[in-house]
Amino acid sequence: MKVLISACLLGINSRYDGKNKFDKDLLSFLIKNKIDFFPFCAEQLGGLTTPREPSETENGYSAQDVIEGRGRVLTKSGKDVTKNYIDGANVILKFCKSIDITHAILAEKSPSCGYTKVYDGTFTGTLIEGNGILTQILKNNGIVIVKDIQDLSRKSLTY
Ligand code: SF4
Repeated sequence: MKVLISACLLGINSRYDGKNKFDKDLLSFLIKNKIDFFPFCAEQLGGLTTPREPSETENGYSAQDVIEGRGRVLTKSGKDVTKNYIDGANVILKFCKSIDITHAILAEKSPSCGYTKVYDGTFTGTLIEGNGILTQILKNNGIVIVKDIQDLSRKSLTY
């Protein structure tokens, strides 16, 4: 099993605020179970700096809308960073396909990596149902999104 991981979950300071979301239990699980894992940050690969202004998918639009050209990803001050988000996600998708990565475990609520819950585009901390841009692109291409360690444990044991 080969698993893509959001870089910030492994302690890499790739978040918009220059920090990380290190998940010690996740790293221990990956090492203990000898799972091949590959850390990536879609926003950095799309050409954005760290730190950077926070971004959200435009209010009223989904990640799929953005992928299909109907919505945008905007920074808090209104700069359109849609191309950065799409480009970064596509670099990661290409890599996943090139070495047969089948699963991904991604940081929650991020406009790139969020899974099932993301911010609503108002920059008020309001969560809505939806995915980040990277997550949606991976899902659209058959990569299984893993929710948490328990989910990863189930999937790695049955893989
Ligand atoms: Fe972490 Fe993903 Fe945001 Fe990069 S894009 S900082 S990997 S949540």
